[in-house]
Amino acid sequence: MMKPNAHSVKNVSKTATGFLFVFSYLRGRGRFLKPDATRRSTSLPQVGEIQFPRMPKAFFAVAVALAAVPAAQPARRAASLVVVGGTVITENAARQVLTPGAVAIRGTDIIDVDRPEVIAGRYAATETIDARDQIVLPGLINTHTHAPMVMFRGLADDLALMEWLQKYIFPAEAKTVSADFVRIGTRLAALEMIESGTTTYADMYYFEEEIAKATREAGLRGVLGETIIQFPSPDAKTPAEGLARAERFIAAFKGDSLIVPAVAPHAMYTNDKATLVASAELGRRYGVPVLIHLAETEDEVRIARDQYHLTPVGYLDSIGFLGPRTLAAHGIWVTDDDIQVLSQR
Ligand SMILES: [Zn+2]
Repeated sequence: MMKPNAHSVKNVSKTATGFLFVFSYLRGRGRFLKPDATRRSTSLPQVGEIQFPRMPKAFFAVAVALAAVPAAQPARRAASLVVVGGTVITENAARQVLTPGAVAIRGTDIIDVDRPEVIAGRYAATETIDARDQIVLPGLINTHTHAPMVMFRGLADDLALMEWLQKYIFPAEAKTVSADFVRIGTRLAALEMIESGTTTYADMYYFEEEIAKATREAGLRGVLGETIIQFPSPDAKTPAEGLARAERFIAAFKGDSLIVPAVAPHAMYTNDKATLVASAELGRRYGVPVLIHLAETEDEVRIARDQYHLTPVGYLDSIGFLGPRTLAAHGIWVTDDDIQVLSQR
């Protein structure tokens, strides 16, 4: 017996009216066939007897392909992939966990999540993955990365942040970081993220357009911030140059389906007030996130106290930096008052 192939069903599901038509046609199929039981079930004249004389030619072909489906079985919709049999952690409003469950995917979209028998009844899958003894869950989100820095893995471990940055990382970056370095490092980082179940990440680094391209290529989502820092960096001699670079990057990727471009002033202790304010204004002007390291170490808290008699959060708030699109990384040393301020801006 002929079964509808994925192609024909997909054509039907493109229009709601088309689908309803096929559904009602299948239910009443016996009646349509009655006038001439000897006629071959896939012949065009027979479909014509349904009295839709102006039906488009392509649609005739779809209806004919479906004509041989048994009347009791509703048409199954096409799915490019069904993942079946695993423990599905839905993270829906009811925090449902399906043991076992199944997930139907069409193209890049998850179109249904339910018990295996329900999904099997609704969808004809081009490809099926047996996920027995495995957990199926929404992708993890890493909220703070410098993806290409996988290339520095093992360099100067186990040091305090300021010593690590100033004695090792900033000098190493000045010598080695280029567009090539960033592209290669991001591709490696993307592989590691995919392997560990991370599908979205928030990054701040240099040559962020290379990171964006590699992220898209890997099929990951990224909130990607071009770094702004007061001293000469691998991709900008001055903060003003960095800001101009960030603006070009934001303009190039705004509205992208996978990339949310952003601006990333490194920290309150590596940028002066004018640079911090200009970064926040750039973010506001384009309606994009502003990423910053904040209250990461006790050293940072000490610097803010010594220079401004404020906490790092208090200082950023005093210059109008904070807003609803601020993404603060770390926040290890925030006070209760700082948390209040951050939640209100
Ligand atoms: Zn960081």
